[in-house]
Amino acid sequence: MALSNIAGQQRAVSFLSRLLRKETVPHAFLFSGMTGGGKLAAAVEFARALNCLSPRDHDGCGLCGSCRKLDEGLHPDVVHVTSDGPGIKLDQIRELVKRFRFRPFEGKFRVVIIHDAHRMLEVAANALLKVLEEPPEANIFILLAVESQMLLPTIVSRCCQVRFQPLDDRIVAQRLVQEEGLSPESAASIARLAEGSIEKARWFSVQDRSEGWKKVVDRLENLDTISILDFFPMVSDWAKGREFVERDLEFIKLWVRDLILFRVAGARYPAHASTQSGAALTFDLNARTRQAAGSIPVEHLFILYQRVELAMQGLKVNANLQMTLEGVCLAIKDFLYGKGNWNSFSKRGQALSF
Ligand SMILES: [Zn+2]
Repeated sequence: MALSNIAGQQRAVSFLSRLLRKETVPHAFLFSGMTGGGKLAAAVEFARALNCLSPRDHDGCGLCGSCRKLDEGLHPDVVHVTSDGPGIKLDQIRELVKRFRFRPFEGKFRVVIIHDAHRMLEVAANALLKVLEEPPEANIFILLAVESQMLLPTIVSRCCQVRFQPLDDRIVAQRLVQEEGLSPESAASIARLAEGSIEKARWFSVQDRSEGWKKVVDRLENLDTISILDFFPMVSDWAKGREFVERDLEFIKLWVRDLILFRVAGARYPAHASTQSGAALTFDLNARTRQAAGSIPVEHLFILYQRVELAMQGLKVNANLQMTLEGVCLAIKDFLYGKGNWNSFSKRGQALSF
């Protein structure tokens, strides 16, 4: 591996390569972008190129002693800081600072890679800020974060920012074929779910997870005709575990996004895709759902999307699983299939009497 082999991040990679060629490397970087887009790989390859003993065109050779140690995770001058429990703690930054009394052991630079820097506790962030204000010689910091706004602005302003884009679906699919041994068809279909993250794609590619989304779509389509007597037991059965509900809400969000793409851009499922709009659906929506999405105001679909996002946020702060799912399912049932009626359960065939 080398920096130049990182796929799908041409802008970030060519920026870093230019710095290596000019041999003017800032002391701190912030790599931002979604998890699974290549930030960590780029940080490691940048560290390799900086310390390689026989660089090729200013990139790592992959063969020298320094490159081999890096591959084995044994390079003494490439230091990873990862969050521990609630986040990166003050003690971890203090431990790091102790190292700065010494020069790098073997390499030209010590490269400190701070994973999930947005999960740094405030006291730790302030301690790191002091280091960045007076950077120790021959040390390079690479902070990895999803969004730069999630960090203290004073830290961000000390860093050279490098943005990583979501990966192209084709690159994600290609890697799933090469690295996970998936068939090109299932790789393509999972890549569409992964929203540009190889990590998310790998997560989806586990068999029971890809089966999971078919079950979710069945349940969503069934909301069209389900009776009130079946509705609550169905949701209660669904809300068995937090991990599954969180995963399924991801699917529901993508499904609602599909409804919007279908409604607004006329997007189709890839198997019969018209490339008119360039957008393709993740799910093969059934005829009833397509018809329902086509016959309601588009704003209702955006409200639905927002409802799902709010539900996902709610779960992160421990909202009740069953009530969250009920809220989302009722919203889909009423807005989509009930054309905005607050109670869209069929009046026919129900054994309720008052
Ligand atoms: Zn090398």
